[in-house]
Amino acid sequence: MEKENNRCQRCGTCCRKGPPGLHRLDKRLYEQGTLQKGHLLTLRQGELVRDNVMDRTIRLSEEMVRIRSKSHEAACIFFDGKTSGCQIYESRPLECRVLECWDTSKIQQVYAEDRLTRADLFLPDSALGQIADAHEHHCSYARVAELADRIRANAEPDKRDLQELAGMVVQDLGIRKSFQDKTKAGDFVLEFLFGRSLVRTLPGFGLEVRETEEGYRFLKTDAWDRHRK
Ligand code: SF4
Repeated sequence: MEKENNRCQRCGTCCRKGPPGLHRLDKRLYEQGTLQKGHLLTLRQGELVRDNVMDRTIRLSEEMVRIRSKSHEAACIFFDGKTSGCQIYESRPLECRVLECWDTSKIQQVYAEDRLTRADLFLPDSALGQIADAHEHHCSYARVAELADRIRANAEPDKRDLQELAGMVVQDLGIRKSFQDKTKAGDFVLEFLFGRSLVRTLPGFGLEVRETEEGYRFLKTDAWDRHRK
């Protein structure tokens, strides 16, 4: 009986919980075309993300690329709810191959090792790599976190901090729009190339972004305190 339980029943529970992060061993799936830019999401260094394996919110110490979730649900985009099956089962990524839900020791061993980044997927000195680097330079989460910490901590935040953060939001949106105007890239491709927009991720740092006639303003939220509990 125990033996029966100790094998994958293909119930789909792990695929419903969320998609896998990718590792350098998965690069061939991108090169073969199984995984394309619009299937992927970049989580940038310093971003606050939900860690499904550890079941907590963490600040990423290094960039990672993962498969996207379906819209409005956590399940992996390759999960077929009707059959509870994987649409790329024969080519599924490393984490899906090693995950045994009855014993998570194997996935915990590989989980943080040798993670795939955008730089692994861009050609050396490519225009895509250069524009992603420029975006990272102008919109780094190291600086976002510093500014957000100070703004949250002060009842009357320093205007220079507010202006700098608003400027980063403008830069972030501007780089995306300029790239999209030139290439007609879809929104999912933009989220692979530049990660999620600061408008989407700043609430995780305790600041909601509001666009007003005077520019971008920030509203403090309790998200930061919730993450820390
Ligand atoms: S790639 Fe396939 S096996 Fe892996 S989480 Fe997605 S649907 Fe499940």
